[in-house]
Amino acid sequence: NKQVILRDFVEGFPKESDMYIATGTVRLDVPEGSTAVLVKNLYLSCDPYMRNRMSNLVGSYIESFKPGSPISGYGVCKVIDSGHPKFKKGDLVWGMTGWEEYSLITAPETLFKIEHTDVPLSYYTGLLGMAGMTAYAGFFKVCFPKKGETVFISAASGAVGQLVGQFAKLTGCYVIGSAGSKEKVDLLKNKFKFDDAFNYKEEPDLNAALKRYFPDGIDIYFENVGGKMLDAVLLNMKVHGRIAACGMISQYNLKQHEAVHNLIQIVVKQIRMEGFIVFGYYSQYPEYLEMVLPQIREGKIAYVEDISEGLESGPAALIGLFSGKNIGKQVVAVARE
Ligand code: NDP
Repeated sequence: NKQVILRDFVEGFPKESDMYIATGTVRLDVPEGSTAVLVKNLYLSCDPYMRNRMSNLVGSYIESFKPGSPISGYGVCKVIDSGHPKFKKGDLVWGMTGWEEYSLITAPETLFKIEHTDVPLSYYTGLLGMAGMTAYAGFFKVCFPKKGETVFISAASGAVGQLVGQFAKLTGCYVIGSAGSKEKVDLLKNKFKFDDAFNYKEEPDLNAALKRYFPDGIDIYFENVGGKMLDAVLLNMKVHGRIAACGMISQYNLKQHEAVHNLIQIVVKQIRMEGFIVFGYYSQYPEYLEMVLPQIREGKIAYVEDISEGLESGPAALIGLFSGKNIGKQVVAVARE
């Protein structure tokens, strides 16, 4: 059983060498009397929050990884053996699993059974899994968008951003995204049909860039990066604007978080900025599937994945999120079936 092991707690930017591949043994059945589920991992999801788990966390909403043990995250898996009445051999599921070839999942109640297999299975690491639910909850349940409103999304070509942008277009909003390369900006404009997009790395003055695209201001900001971008956005929000604070990836590897200087705009413009964590919205997953599956089947939603091959490629794929190496949703394919 090949595994990706965390070497030690990480400080600063994570490196490939913070993880290593080891081979352990695994029993290919569930122990008698246990309600655990044994799965074969097919696709693993690379997510920015996993960086937090590489630190020695105190009082976080999530536990640290254990140095010397396999890391874990969302994945798509096939059930090999089950002691749980809800699952049987051959079922396909998505949820929390180990970064290894086979995992014994001792709390299988948290797994979602995959019922629709006419779409690629890897989609359940993103569009039809955690990233999709994040985009859905953050945009619709935190921002309450209306037709005609102006929407700005940072890290817009990534797993969550590409979906928020398309949900916003389907709602009839004017949508602008920022991303870190020309290739990503082209994707935003041509594939995801944003109204326009810009490369934030080539804008010496983010405030001026936002003024160019939003002369009358921003109604909704979907916040993925924090730092300087948040500061510039605050200057460009409309009165009664809403900010969904989904993530702040520019801050995750810093020992000291950057100061935000323009927070007073929240008062002046009566902005509602609300942080949210997707875990609190999973009860709405069936409702989300009901909305999004027809949109996928009718070709109304485009989806770009960046699939790296083999468990060994996992550490590089994971740390690539923090230099913007991924084009679209970063997935690691461990096995195809
Ligand atoms: P992405 O697929 O968007 O990958 C991360 C991207 O972030 C990179 O490709 C890069 O794109 C950008 N990035 C990396 N470093 C920086 C930086 N210093 N400044 C600006 N941009 C940077 O990831 P996800 O879509 O999975 O996640 C997007 C955000 O959503 C993250 O902040 C994440 O933590 C958050 N999140 C929150 C959840 C919640 O429950 N609240 C759940 C899931 C995700 P580029 O080339 O454009 O710079």
